[in-house]
Amino acid sequence: VSDPRIYGIKAKIRVVPDFPKKGIMFQDITTLLLDPKTFKDTIDLFVERYRDMNISVVAGIEARGFIFGSPIALAIGAKFVPLRKPKKLPGEVIFEEYELEYGSDRLEMHVEAVDPGDRALIVDDLIATGGTLCAAMSLLERVGAEVVECACVIELPELMGRERLGGKPLCVLIEYR
Ligand code: AMP
Repeated sequence: VSDPRIYGIKAKIRVVPDFPKKGIMFQDITTLLLDPKTFKDTIDLFVERYRDMNISVVAGIEARGFIFGSPIALAIGAKFVPLRKPKKLPGEVIFEEYELEYGSDRLEMHVEAVDPGDRALIVDDLIATGGTLCAAMSLLERVGAEVVECACVIELPELMGRERLGGKPLCVLIEYR
């Protein structure tokens, strides 16, 4: 995406070196959320892209994918499905394990939340190695949904996460090198 609003969004993201551990340049989007105009610009850019793409489900990845995914889902008239860390969802779940830039984890999804033929958009704040988005794609595809695209505010291109998505389109607003 190329748009003048992106400069303002980039300016509101705080980069914190060595958090949560040494060597990680943490991209802190909470500073973006403090500015309603810029937060809205962020949501609007995605809504403008997805509103005519027949998306029936927005899957947001815990936790920051919820912040961006829910308003996008509301604006485009899609259902919202949270992809959650272990033991948070009370219904029947399927899960996928994945590696993080710092550690490993697992994502769970309510099986009955997504139907075969659903057209899915997966939303997170950031793609690093791509492991999280890969796990999310598998969850949706296992129940028969079509993943139309993945959307993140920030990409760390040096970690080559995009290459792990098997050719699935990925839309990002900001590349941080
Ligand atoms: P990955 O699975 O390696 O693509 O990591 C992406 C997930 O980890 C996203 O949910 C991010 O919120 C989080 N994450 C990884 N690296 C960073 C970073 N440098 N700054 C902020 N969040 C990060």
